[in-house]
Amino acid sequence: MEVTGFCNIKCKHCYNFWRGDWLDKDYSDNVHSSHMTLDTANKLFSEIKKHKIKSIVITGGEPLLNYKIVKHLLILAKENHINMSMNSNLTYINDQIARELKELGLRRILTSFMVHARKCTNW
Ligand code: SF4
Repeated sequence: MEVTGFCNIKCKHCYNFWRGDWLDKDYSDNVHSSHMTLDTANKLFSEIKKHKIKSIVITGGEPLLNYKIVKHLLILAKENHINMSMNSNLTYINDQIARELKELGLRRILTSFMVHARKCTNW
């Protein structure tokens, strides 16, 4: 489930190739308009339950930019015994968020380590 189309990084290898444009402009409107809303999250989750899906990956963009929806989805998943994992660049992680994610049942995060030279990964 893509909870936002926006990311704070613009990796060369990113599948959302258009994302890089946003970082070069005033993107404040794009950030919010690309976030999944509570209404959309609830509708998607109803479909997930209806089709008896047992495992979901939260993706973006960078999911932690829409943390409210990440938490909401994790609560719904926990109530419905659905496994959740998340793909994140972890640039927004801190002790509190890590603790909350664990308490809400997230057990797997797919991330990557950036190389030391920004020019190698970014546009
Ligand atoms: S951190 Fe992930 S989502 Fe963001 S630009 Fe890089 S590959 Fe894409």
